[in-house]
Amino acid sequence: MPHFDRSIAAFQEAQKYIPGGVNSPVRAFKSVGMNPIYFKRGQGSKVYDLDGNEYIDYVASWGPLIAGHAHPRVVEALKQVTENGTSFGAPTEIETELAKLVVERVPGVDIVRMVNSGTEATMSALRLARGYTKRNKIIKFIGSYHGHADYLLIKAGSGVATLGLPDSPGVPETVAQHTITVPYNDLDSVKLAFERYGEDIAAVILEPVAGNMGVVPPLPGFLEGLREITREYGALLIFDEVMTGFRVDYACAQGKFGITPDLTCFGKVIGGGLPVGAYGGKKEIMEHVAPVGPIYQAGTLSGNPLAMTAGFETLSLMTRERYDELEEKGAYLEQGLRHNAEKHGIPHTINRVGSMVGFFFTEGPVTNFEQASRSDLKRFARYFQLMVEQGIYIPPSQFEGMFISIVHTKEDLDRTIAAHDKAMAALAKE
Ligand code: PMP
Repeated sequence: MPHFDRSIAAFQEAQKYIPGGVNSPVRAFKSVGMNPIYFKRGQGSKVYDLDGNEYIDYVASWGPLIAGHAHPRVVEALKQVTENGTSFGAPTEIETELAKLVVERVPGVDIVRMVNSGTEATMSALRLARGYTKRNKIIKFIGSYHGHADYLLIKAGSGVATLGLPDSPGVPETVAQHTITVPYNDLDSVKLAFERYGEDIAAVILEPVAGNMGVVPPLPGFLEGLREITREYGALLIFDEVMTGFRVDYACAQGKFGITPDLTCFGKVIGGGLPVGAYGGKKEIMEHVAPVGPIYQAGTLSGNPLAMTAGFETLSLMTRERYDELEEKGAYLEQGLRHNAEKHGIPHTINRVGSMVGFFFTEGPVTNFEQASRSDLKRFARYFQLMVEQGIYIPPSQFEGMFISIVHTKEDLDRTIAAHDKAMAALAKE
């Protein structure tokens, strides 16, 4: 049984100086009832905590580390760049190099602007959509997360396709009113929303594979339907590929599913573990952004050489063959987890797209947030503890998927499946 004495002490100290002891809420491990684990080192597929415990890591810093921790190529490049100065607030060539990789790979992106986080990417893309269409309202899907901009922290109103209500104090109702929320994978609700408010809807924003309600893939026809409706009403279709971008496919989710949005948001993998976001799209739309156009958006550290280098090296590692390997690893893990759950009679649903794997404690199917919410959260919390105790670090939330990286070995996957088997056996007895 591992002990966590140092993590416990570190967390107590942190709470004196940092709200809740953390700089992002999910790190507090509230939903799994444990003290947060403090990490000290990451190498390849493994992370090491303050108490010296080793884990196989499936959190990957919540997605960015598709090449694993401290990949030698990324580390070496970062060292060299650092010696030459970390930021200039002036253009550098590496910005164009990373932009080129994005434009070459992603069907919907003609040009791309770098920012510092996924939140900034979605905020900027939505400002652009509103400025471009001269409309106010946006549609988002219940259970999707697009960062913490005011108008994106919105929960559903009381009915289908109603105007939103603030999900957090500090968000004015007048702001929330411009956000229409509908269930994921529900085209009829989207149609209804457009029938009611179509003339003032600037954009539909969605995760093309939802990753913030566990892993929920788009049902056949969903993305196609959204493409048609938005075109019909003159609204923009925005894919928030902060999580799926360069994660589910070489050409991102839009390449995988063959649907081209008007704008795309990036984050996570595009920064290879450093703070990067980006938004891009059709040239005709993107050229409304300053300094070419009137829609303002800027950033002191946007496109800084360190962040661009980590992104460039990571994307350069991610050849098409790497995505085939990730698909194989994903399928192998999925099969193992399913076998275990069935063997021990644990009600479950596994949703997977490539290297994003979602294991829900509900019989399913899980195609939207309401269904995901039927999961047994107490059981999940117990499962998390059982996995951590066996040296497997999975996301401390039922509503986040596991991420496999290119450095996870078959041995890692086998150890994970064996630990999962033990966890399922223990849960079946409880
Ligand atoms: N969009 C999606 C789909 C996300 O998953 C996230 C973060 N989990 C964000 C936006 C926000 O990104 P960041 O945390 O970098 O601001």
